[in-house]
Amino acid sequence: MDIVIIGGGVIGTSLAYWLADKSKLAVTLLEANANFAQNGTASFASAGLLTPAAAIGTNPAITRLIKRGFDLYPELAARLKKDHPELAGSGYFELDQLRVATTEAEAAELSERQHWYVEAGLATDARWLSPREVAEVEPLTGPNFGAIHHKGGLLRPPWLTRTLARAAAAKGVTIKAGNPVASLITGNGKVTGIRLQDGEIIQSEKVVLAAGAWSGVWLEQQLERLNITTPGLKWSQKVKPVRGQLLAVLPPPGTPPLRHILAGAGGYGYPRADGSIAFGATEEHEAGFEVAITPDGYSKLFSLMQSLAPSLLQAPVSENWSGLRPGSRDGLPLMGELPQLPGLWLATGHFRSGIVMAPSSAELLSEALISGSEESKARLKAYNDATQV
Ligand SMILES: Cc1cc2nc3c(=O)[nH]c(=O)nc-3n(C[C@H](O)[C@H](O)[C@H](O)COP(=O)(O)OP(=O)(O)OC[C@H]3O[C@@H](n4cnc5c(N)ncnc54)[C@H](O)[C@@H]3O)c2cc1C
Repeated sequence: MDIVIIGGGVIGTSLAYWLADKSKLAVTLLEANANFAQNGTASFASAGLLTPAAAIGTNPAITRLIKRGFDLYPELAARLKKDHPELAGSGYFELDQLRVATTEAEAAELSERQHWYVEAGLATDARWLSPREVAEVEPLTGPNFGAIHHKGGLLRPPWLTRTLARAAAAKGVTIKAGNPVASLITGNGKVTGIRLQDGEIIQSEKVVLAAGAWSGVWLEQQLERLNITTPGLKWSQKVKPVRGQLLAVLPPPGTPPLRHILAGAGGYGYPRADGSIAFGATEEHEAGFEVAITPDGYSKLFSLMQSLAPSLLQAPVSENWSGLRPGSRDGLPLMGELPQLPGLWLATGHFRSGIVMAPSSAELLSEALISGSEESKARLKAYNDATQV
């Protein structure tokens, strides 16, 4: 096998699809669960908002990935739909975003941000709406001090993930699901393959770890067993689970539809195909690997609804769910070959923006994995450096 990918979330499936699309390499994608995007994974729970706003206050390496990912989606979504009319597709559609200011101070900060969006090329259409204009375009919005309006998109992450897995298989990727990767196999200081939990061995000189929130703990165990030390934080701290809870309410008949992604300081609301409106998401750094709905999570989501769309507070809750993001320092993904263990590549730590960054991450990584050129490795440098911090 030329390349083995551990983890079939949106990051692993995107990479498998890209590699199969751009090369003739023999690729195997390994997923622990029987189903792709199973309950509790990030790619199951994710809201699926595609917004350049995710780049706020972050470093240029993140901004680049978000912008490129955002730009790649329309074509990717159309291609998946055209090539695989039998599959659910990604559920992608364009949906503008309103980032609402709920205090005067926030309005001042956001209007500066609107200029930055335009100057950084993240959302060149970004414009400022007055409170009256906000009420006109989005009657569900609560009292506010204005909002930034710009283009955005929305998709269904579990659909996207499963469609990418099937589309990758149709292009020749071997898929094995329902059997976790137990360990790495090495020889002469390099990766030579992996061992599955049921004992099966798959040989490969390139193994990509895309195991989401589970990547850090898993890698720490492997490196300890192999007596390999790396600089910086422990791996269980470099990539760790950050739980997010969401809930959806069913607006009563006669409620105006939500026509935008509605974002505020504490989260966002977005419309769903079944007519419900979802609000999310909590950001819980101390919940470990427990996938749960908690009273505290509920209360945070209700406060968010109160500030973004107070008229929905009496609407019945129709669904709630949670999942584990692969948290990383400042949200910078860790990507590239681990210098201390040649052959082991990382594709993890996409934190809160892994859906929008999935195609751009797959593009960058597949260039480096296929060509191995210095140029392609240089483009990965910022993400590779993050593995050493
Ligand atoms: C509540 C919430 C809301 C979000 N909203 C957005 C959003 O609106 N926009 C956005 O861009 N991003 C959003 N994100 C972030 C985004 O969903 C994640 O960054 C992205 O899904 C991460 O994908 P992943 O493939 O790294 O991880 P995952 O989807 O968690 O996939 C990792 C996979 O690896 C598998 N695995 C683990 N260990 C092993 C093993 N030993 N062997 C084999 N397989 C293994 C797991 O079973 C899992 O399927 C959100 C996340 C959450 C949780």
